Amino acid sequence: MKRKPMMAGNWKMNKTISEAKELALALKASAGAETKVDVVLCPPFLAIPTVAGAVAGSNIKVAAQDFFWKEKGAYTGEISAQMIKDGGCASVVIGHSERRGRFGKVEDDLVGEGLGPFGDNNTTVNTKTKAALDAGLLPIVCCGETLAERKTGKTDLVVKSQVLAALAGLSGEEIAKVVIAYEPVWAIGTGEVCDSAEANRVLGMIRGALAELVGDTAQAMQILYGGSVAPDNIEELMAQPEIDGGLVGGASLVAEKFQALIDAAAKARGGCCGCGG
Ligand code: PEP
Repeated sequence: MKRKPMMAGNWKMNKTISEAKELALALKASAGAETKVDVVLCPPFLAIPTVAGAVAGSNIKVAAQDFFWKEKGAYTGEISAQMIKDGGCASVVIGHSERRGRFGKVEDDLVGEGLGPFGDNNTTVNTKTKAALDAGLLPIVCCGETLAERKTGKTDLVVKSQVLAALAGLSGEEIAKVVIAYEPVWAIGTGEVCDSAEANRVLGMIRGALAELVGDTAQAMQILYGGSVAPDNIEELMAQPEIDGGLVGGASLVAEKFQALIDAAAKARGGCCGCGG
């Protein structure tokens, strides 16, 4: 089955409000009319309303990088699903490895699951996924193995268990609304992209796990690759049948680079998904 690709730019803790506006306006000018690719921008919380305002009236959607699952209350420093929605988000990234405390190459032997400063783990990711769906937000749920796990042959075990844990207790209808992003921790921000055939294999494994839950519906679900995606490797990645786009950090911070990724995704899968393109 042909699926519409998605290109989601995770700006992480980058861009002041004015810088975020500038980047969003540049992308609105170049990608605002895009119909062949779901273009998503994930600015820092503070810039969400500004970015949402900047891209209003275009096809670009805005996502938050995280949220807390409670509706409201005494949770100092936290932000709810309703708040990010009110700010203009249609979507939210959940369980990024940097929030799970699973950092890149250098730290991944030092920091274990759930021990980082931000405390996400399989349980909180599941709770957040449910809460996002309840709020009408599209969850982009991250999974991925550390370098140590890959080196010891645990990639599939770790990734599958993260995916199944994230979706535990959800109905088939709910699962069908989730986007999965496979992001090998060792490839994030390191310039070391995962071999495209290997990324394709892992995504196929993930789709197989989804099929165990929702059958053929898994064929329609978007599964992204993330980890040092850049203009010079996007064509090879998008040529892989299981890769439905990217969750992109560094290369999403420069309008021309992110646009090159969007263009490559449109070219690779353009006009194939009933999107009218
Ligand atoms: C990310 O932020 O999820 C990511 C994959 O970062 P980068 O593209 O910089 O590796």
